[in-house]
Amino acid sequence: MRHIAVIGSGPAGYYTAEAAIKHWGDDVRVDVFDRLPVPYGLIRTGVAPDHQTIKAVSGRYEKTALTENVRFVGNISIGKDISVDELRGLYDAVVVATGAPHDRKLGIDGEEQTGVYGSAAFVGWYNSHPQFRNLDPDLSSDTAVVIGMGNVALDVSRILSKTEAEFEGSDIAAHALDILKGSNISRIVLLGRRGPHQIMMTPKELSELMKLDRASPHVDNADLPPEGDDAMLEPGLRKSVNHLRSFAAIPAHIHADKAIEIEFDFFASPKAILGDGNKVTGIEVERTEVKTGRAVGTGETYTIPCGLVVTCIGYHTANIPGVPFDERLGRFANDEGRILTGLYCVGWARRGPSGTIGTNKPDGFAIVEKVAEDMEAGLLGNGSKKGRPGFDELAAARGLDIVTFRDWKKIEEAEASAARDGAPREKFADIEAMIRAAQ
Ligand code: NAP
Repeated sequence: MRHIAVIGSGPAGYYTAEAAIKHWGDDVRVDVFDRLPVPYGLIRTGVAPDHQTIKAVSGRYEKTALTENVRFVGNISIGKDISVDELRGLYDAVVVATGAPHDRKLGIDGEEQTGVYGSAAFVGWYNSHPQFRNLDPDLSSDTAVVIGMGNVALDVSRILSKTEAEFEGSDIAAHALDILKGSNISRIVLLGRRGPHQIMMTPKELSELMKLDRASPHVDNADLPPEGDDAMLEPGLRKSVNHLRSFAAIPAHIHADKAIEIEFDFFASPKAILGDGNKVTGIEVERTEVKTGRAVGTGETYTIPCGLVVTCIGYHTANIPGVPFDERLGRFANDEGRILTGLYCVGWARRGPSGTIGTNKPDGFAIVEKVAEDMEAGLLGNGSKKGRPGFDELAAARGLDIVTFRDWKKIEEAEASAARDGAPREKFADIEAMIRAAQ
């Protein structure tokens, strides 16, 4: 029998579990740990609440979770309740699939003020993540600045733009919807330090900006490179740039009909966040030029007055004691997923925050190949590890309160019955409430 522990129950974790049962069938037991009492990681608290079709992939993870050989072990924080070394003593292989939950910092003055949020916090807030449920952003000013030209910046801009009716069918947190309903924001500035040819936004996500009831996207024609230059772009990016071109062609009367403008400000690098000593009041920006792909400051600066700044500039992995970390890259130090003997990483914890949910599938299958190679090479011991029963003994001795997959199904049911009309669920944003619902 092979014993595998997976730390993290998001896409990378469940694709790894799926690959393990495909590889070893009945000869493997996989325990999938999560510090929250609920599974699915970013699917639950990262994917936008109005992107329910993407969230539906959790049905596939549930299939894996319900197989005899895989079990969910919720409400257990590895590194706190149980150390990684202890897990390594119990399981033949430990695979870290904890993603990249921390916001990267801009590293400029004023960043710590109230009203400046990283996207992990802001997205976590509207997605009912227990850690961020009390963020209570102040949306009383007329301008929000969203930094970054990736899909997360699009998610944040879209959520700030939608009407209450447009959230029908979504599972946006009730506490967020309440605040969004009272929002005064009429201008969202998307700040990109480089140009239209360097955006990270994908076409489908960009096209959604054209369908918003009360907001329209605005691109300045002067920022767009000559159309002929698009020919050298890879097809996905070319499509995205095409969308930018169509935004630039939107006639003035359409903009005039919409209450909110989503303005793409290219060649604009944040220099400092301005405030009144307490709260953000604006952002100082430097104009850039793109030289051999890099943003270079021109020395010309300007200020955008605003009452909210959301940075969507990427994430880094959280340290876990006992797991070597690469500070420069913001993820675990690894060689194609191998960290130490019997210790592996997968997904964002391995490669950093890039790619789509689907990218984690080949990643999960590849790491299982590595584990299998190491087992066959005799590197992972002689099969004497205790695995699941050993973990259960330790958990009982420590009085740890484990949430099982069956418990999660009770939480899920309670969330579905608490949903407002037309919504799939109202997620608990409070760990105690989740545990009460599980009992
Ligand atoms: P991302 O795609 O890497 O984009 C980050 C953006 O931040 C880039 O435009 C980058 O500009 C900018 N940036 C970084 N540091 C900066 C700085 N110091 N100052 C100004 N700008 C800075 O990251 P993301 O949007 O967080 O997305 C993470 C991953 O999740 C991506 O793979 C994304 O596609 C995926 N995702 C997918 C969906 C979806 O499919 N619907 C939704 C959300 C997220 P430079 O290029 O100049 O560095």
